[in-house]
Amino acid sequence: MIPFNKPYLTGKEMHYMYQAVYSGKISGNGIYTKKCQSFFEERYNFKKALLTTSCTDALEMAAILANISQGDEVIMPSYTFVSTALAFVRQGAKIIFVDSRDDHPGINEDIIENYITEKTKAIVPVHYAGVACDMDKIMAIALKHNLLVIEDAAQAIESFYKGRALGSIGHMATFSFHETKNINCGEGGLLAINDENFIKRSELIWEKGTNRAEFFRGDVDKYGWVDIGSSFLPSEINAAYLWAQLENIKKIQKRRNHIWERYCAGLKEWANKKGVRLPVLPYYASQNGHMFYMVCESLSQREVLIKKLRSNGILAVFHYLSLHKSPYYKDIHGDRELPNSDFYSDVLVRLPLFYELADQEVDEIVNIIKSI
Ligand SMILES: *Cc1c(COP(=O)(O)O)cnc(C)c1O
Repeated sequence: MIPFNKPYLTGKEMHYMYQAVYSGKISGNGIYTKKCQSFFEERYNFKKALLTTSCTDALEMAAILANISQGDEVIMPSYTFVSTALAFVRQGAKIIFVDSRDDHPGINEDIIENYITEKTKAIVPVHYAGVACDMDKIMAIALKHNLLVIEDAAQAIESFYKGRALGSIGHMATFSFHETKNINCGEGGLLAINDENFIKRSELIWEKGTNRAEFFRGDVDKYGWVDIGSSFLPSEINAAYLWAQLENIKKIQKRRNHIWERYCAGLKEWANKKGVRLPVLPYYASQNGHMFYMVCESLSQREVLIKKLRSNGILAVFHYLSLHKSPYYKDIHGDRELPNSDFYSDVLVRLPLFYELADQEVDEIVNIIKSI
């Protein structure tokens, strides 16, 4: 049996968690939290990085910081995970879903402007499969209409746009360390802030609306309740686990990228013959070995593929039912069609991709697919 995903253990996780536990400081914002945050700020050029308990939480923080409130509109793709929308809906926003590109499941940058109104406050591009949206285009639209850009970079660690790290371009960005992501700590996330105006308030919201972080730095002489917020910071035990992963980021990325390339090389000819599309990388984008997906010609073709793999003990999966058609949002969205989003819902399939997947197993999967 080859699973779809298997979280990778570098071997140091338990050691650092043990150290955190016996240091006597296991609540948040301790040594390991700071080590992780500095790592992100230095490696990716974020002005400020704050660990959170999930990417969902980081998105909620971003929505609060962006001052999203009742009646505001937020633009994002429909082909994404629920959390991208949920965080803004909780603040009272109406989500304006924009269709995906023809060549890629990411948001179609060229039609975003059609959906901007006086109520629009933010654009939330999702870097699907760690492949960058065209950020120059999106930032130019945002500048022209005075909007905020919050990158959902949940899948995009170690991915770049014209050489700039994803998550370092928008006003804010969010990452996930859920066990299905390249770097994980079970459940975890990160809020990256690039617009300095949000830094001070981000710490208040992070620490339950208190100015505790400032107090511990010695910037103020007492701390109290100064804003809204929640308990967004993870414990040191999670951060210690995450640190072990970050120390090995190069090794993890090398292996995942290798697997991605091997799938690509192995499937190219077959895919061409069968009308199946392999991932497309625009000239400005890199990929990060997060996900290997294929775009089938039809729903029935995908069903055959998944069934064939499953009968050979291999778990391939599909995902994202368009959010604009979800039971929760379809009435609010109305009947404006998003054909590409629905298309990817029907025909996209993801193959197993995890650190410990052996070359031999990749070849086995490729051969089974080629036999169809
Ligand atoms: C995984 C993911 C999330 C949610 O991340 P959590 O850490 O589980 O909250 C949000 N958006 C996208 C695009 C994701 O892939």
